[in-house]
Amino acid sequence: MRDPLPLGIFGGTFDPVHVGHLRLAEEASETLGLSGVRWIPAGQPKHREAPQVTPAHRLQMVRLATAGNPLFSVDPAEVESGEASFTVPTLERLREKFGQRQPLILLLGADAYAGLNTWHRWQEIFSFAHLAVAHRPGYPVNADTLPAPLAEEHRQRYAPEPATLAAAGAGIITTFAMTPLTISATHIRQILAQGQSPRYLLTQPVIDYIDLHHLYRNNDGS
Ligand code: ATP
Repeated sequence: MRDPLPLGIFGGTFDPVHVGHLRLAEEASETLGLSGVRWIPAGQPKHREAPQVTPAHRLQMVRLATAGNPLFSVDPAEVESGEASFTVPTLERLREKFGQRQPLILLLGADAYAGLNTWHRWQEIFSFAHLAVAHRPGYPVNADTLPAPLAEEHRQRYAPEPATLAAAGAGIITTFAMTPLTISATHIRQILAQGQSPRYLLTQPVIDYIDLHHLYRNNDGS
């Protein structure tokens, strides 16, 4: 029986989802030879500030942004659980669902990776998934600048060749280049709060949704 292609797992607050996220998932699919990318919007992430709009709105925007790409699917479980979101229980659930032979690759931007050692039970991530880190302008990925415990894992687990990841189910760290985009959700929220146009930073269905629900234009958190 042939080994299954790796499946990408892409979590985030997506507050809102923007073209930086979409290019990351698209370019990861190509570079890492993924069978698809499963997008998992966080419910209430514990390791960062509360998102500005509700989990249901963020989930809906991810659905709109990813619709039409056959490689992308959306997993609503973290949003629907109504509880604080943690990555390890989510990976545990996916490992159970897909079985031991399925390579799972957690996709992360370089900024998120640099803070990985502050995540709940972070060292267990490697028992359930590989990690592929996308370069992001302003956030170099380098064992010499990572926090000590993470640098140690990085040195031990790093493999430069994406092909290595397909041969095992979990436990390898790699990096991949993507079109450098300095887009961030923080900047987009600022643009919207100032009444400026977010056109071409977000997909049009997401812009239409934001307009329809008057999101981010004022700070009422709706
Ligand atoms: P915020 O500005 O609110 O912190 P963000 O734009 O970083 O948001 P998140 O939802 O926090 O978006 O990010 C989800 C994942 O996408 C993270 O792993 C993050 O590193 C990655 N990511 C987001 N934007 C980019 C980008 N422009 N280039 C590379 N990775 C990115």
